[in-house]
Amino acid sequence: MIGPQHRVIAIDGPAGAGKSTIAKALSVRLGMKYLDTGAMYRAVTYEAMLRDLNLDDLENIAQLAVDCDLHVGLDRVIINGHDATDAIRQADVTANVSKVASNSGVRKEMRIRQQEWATMHGGGVIEGRDISTVVFPEAILKVFLTASPQIRAQRRVEQQGGNVNEIAAAIEQRDLFDSTRSDSPLAESNDSIVVDTSDRTIEEVVNELETLFLSRLSHGNS
Ligand code: C5P
Repeated sequence: MIGPQHRVIAIDGPAGAGKSTIAKALSVRLGMKYLDTGAMYRAVTYEAMLRDLNLDDLENIAQLAVDCDLHVGLDRVIINGHDATDAIRQADVTANVSKVASNSGVRKEMRIRQQEWATMHGGGVIEGRDISTVVFPEAILKVFLTASPQIRAQRRVEQQGGNVNEIAAAIEQRDLFDSTRSDSPLAESNDSIVVDTSDRTIEEVVNELETLFLSRLSHGNS
């Protein structure tokens, strides 16, 4: 059956594996919409911190997620009318986002919004941690991007500056938290294509994924 998942390319993986760069480039190549689901969890975290809420108060934070007016676009992230594009990338938000993302009430709401987004756009390239496993298990193409811990830390330093050892430790801690939480942990699905981006150019990976997607589409594989 051709449903909204038919044209979803789901891209998961740990921090710094190249998800955003590759997902964005692939969406441009294929003329598809792009959604960064990490930005959604970051925006809810930022809003909770702005309001000085207790992040351990699961019900209150879940209610904030349900009530918020959230727009995650290609260039800007707007929550409750204010532009949080830069603020959601700050270190304090990064340090707290995994805790907020482990809240099942928050996840349920984000999942609904992600599925509605795909229905509205007729699919898209969607990146995150649980996109292949939970949000779009029937996606036409599911990809798990990885890279060595050193390369991932190095990439973050190039993007944001900082000390490579400290960044490597922070990434390791966040990945551990994300992959061991009980609700929709970061994991490969058994039918994901695993791509190690450590020694490959963006162009090579995008070409490979484009070819796979077009071939599945032409074979009517949903
Ligand atoms: O992709 P990014 O590093 O911006 O994601 C920030 C955090 O959001 C992740 O560390 C994870 O805790 C959470 N996340 C998630 N599920 C997703 C996307 C992101 O739990 N689909």
